Amino acid sequence: MKNGIYVVATPIGNLGDISARAKEVLAAAEIIACEDTRVTKKLFSLLGLPQSKTFIRLEDHNEDAQTERLLELAATRIVAQVSDAGSPLISDPGYKLVNRARKAGIAVFTVPGPCALICALQLSGLPTNSFMFAGFIPNKDKARSDLFNKLKSIDTTLVFYETANRIIKTLTAAAPVFGERQMAVAREITKVYEECVNGTAAELLAHFNAQEPKGEMVLMVAPPVQNPAAEIDLERVLKEELKDNSVKTAVKNVVELYGLNKNEVYNLALRLKNE
Ligand code: SAM
Repeated sequence: MKNGIYVVATPIGNLGDISARAKEVLAAAEIIACEDTRVTKKLFSLLGLPQSKTFIRLEDHNEDAQTERLLELAATRIVAQVSDAGSPLISDPGYKLVNRARKAGIAVFTVPGPCALICALQLSGLPTNSFMFAGFIPNKDKARSDLFNKLKSIDTTLVFYETANRIIKTLTAAAPVFGERQMAVAREITKVYEECVNGTAAELLAHFNAQEPKGEMVLMVAPPVQNPAAEIDLERVLKEELKDNSVKTAVKNVVELYGLNKNEVYNLALRLKNE
């Protein structure tokens, strides 16, 4: 095996998902760059891998300092880089290490495997021909809604990492921005309670209000509907709006939300009101 940096994916829940090549590289590596040495040592123990290695912590806050040390080592040794779980560099440390290694002419190899965002897309049933991974959703209200508003018109499936204790707030903020767009939450992927729930933000909110959200989660939003009139149930949406609003307000809300022709929506609203 050549010297250099090996970016090694590890399981996100099911130990059986470690690849044969990942085990081979982890067994051969002299240096293991990891986020939390306790987590990685436990993984080595569960996989029956030798622990007589140098484990070096590489975290967001010390990435700069540790990167220099790891680069020196990788010039003459096999260095494996892992995260606590899943694919390194994806909302996890390692980008700077790889960036500097490439500039310094140090070999970089990928040992692919589980990645939560890819697994979530595979479970979701949402379009996968094009997607945008937007990382973790900010926890501050304004930053969260600014992000959603910035991304809402992009014609692609949106993918975010999220945690159980924030999902209610996130879906509440997502509902007015994404409206009737289909969404999905995949949680506990590859674990015993793996689940993928599909629906609009309002439907997902209802689900997680009824069933306490638990575990690690990936939130996805389907692309905006290209021909909204053909895809949405306009009568149903308008009837809902007319329950609490005047014809004028209901029409305005629906036109803004779906970018429809105002006259057509107005005529339909009048008809429904008179029925
Ligand atoms: N680098 C990892 C990857 O891409 O697989 C992700 C690390 S990131 C720090 C952790 C986030 O990934 C979690 O908050 C969650 O959004 C997602 N995640 C990780 N494991 C998961 C699982 N088993 N099920 C659902 N989401 C998961």
